[in-house]
Amino acid sequence: MKITSAEFVMSNSNVAKCPNEPLPEYAFIGRSNVGKSSLINMLVDRKGLAKTSGRPGKTQLINHFRINKNWFLVDLPGYGYARVSKKDKKTFQKYITEYFLKRKQLVSGFVLVDIRHDPQPVDLEFMEWLGVNQIPFAIVFTKADKLKPNLVEKQANAYLQKLLDGVWEEVPPHFITSSSQHMGREELLNYIGDINQE
Ligand code: GDP
Repeated sequence: MKITSAEFVMSNSNVAKCPNEPLPEYAFIGRSNVGKSSLINMLVDRKGLAKTSGRPGKTQLINHFRINKNWFLVDLPGYGYARVSKKDKKTFQKYITEYFLKRKQLVSGFVLVDIRHDPQPVDLEFMEWLGVNQIPFAIVFTKADKLKPNLVEKQANAYLQKLLDGVWEEVPPHFITSSSQHMGREELLNYIGDINQE
């Protein structure tokens, strides 16, 4: 898919106030610092469209971007940061879960995980919650450039194997990416483009 336009539409924490255009929507989420903003900027080829956060947990809103005038890319807040109060965490969880449960336009979530790390409880719990609620998602491995090339595939497969050893009967679609190397961009965009064509 070629990106011809990428426009910021709105930020909010209320699902009911998200844009009401009936465009297919794809939502990106992951632990803070996983490389979500960098990935989004790489995908749409606009530096600074999603704000890379120096301070984890700062961007706690649902951000809608209209891409090619025919789909929404949604930047959801990062989870799993330590500096946020319990009350904030609860509020955050509420609107994120509401987003996934109520947003009818949502076609797929993309759960980002740092390829260097073994599955973390917070990610596993979140993916399980998506599974239980039958919300489709794909896994996006980030920062692949941080591993030696011969270890990239191995590490991703080990991660996926751990899902199969756990509660999962099959692995979700997955992508290996590096924002600094522009790796995985075509695969991810074509995946979205193909679904949009269906
Ligand atoms: P976010 O908090 O998930 O939005 O993460 P950011 O996109 O702000 O990135 C967090 C940190 O990881 C920053 O220092 C980025 O420069 C770095 N980073 C993000 N993506 C990559 C990548 O693909 N490769 C490398 N080497 N570093 C990355």
